[in-house]
Amino acid sequence: MKCKICSKDAQENGFCMLHLKAYQNIIDKFDVWKKASDTFWSQYLVEIQKNSLTGEWAKEVAKYLIKEENGNVK
Ligand SMILES: [Zn+2]
Repeated sequence: MKCKICSKDAQENGFCMLHLKAYQNIIDKFDVWKKASDTFWSQYLVEIQKNSLTGEWAKEVAKYLIKEENGNVK
């Protein structure tokens, strides 16, 4: 099984170790965001992509999740 984003060997969830770590960070931070502001998941993903402080890995994961939300993943 390959990572859904890059083509490295995937761990659980279909992400490689680095993308999985970024994914888990995104999930963790969303809980904080939800409490601070009434942000929707999809809005949050867009913010991650725009945020210059977000690492490249997290941006790639956010981009992938947005595509998935929109049903564009094959
Ligand atoms: Zn990957």
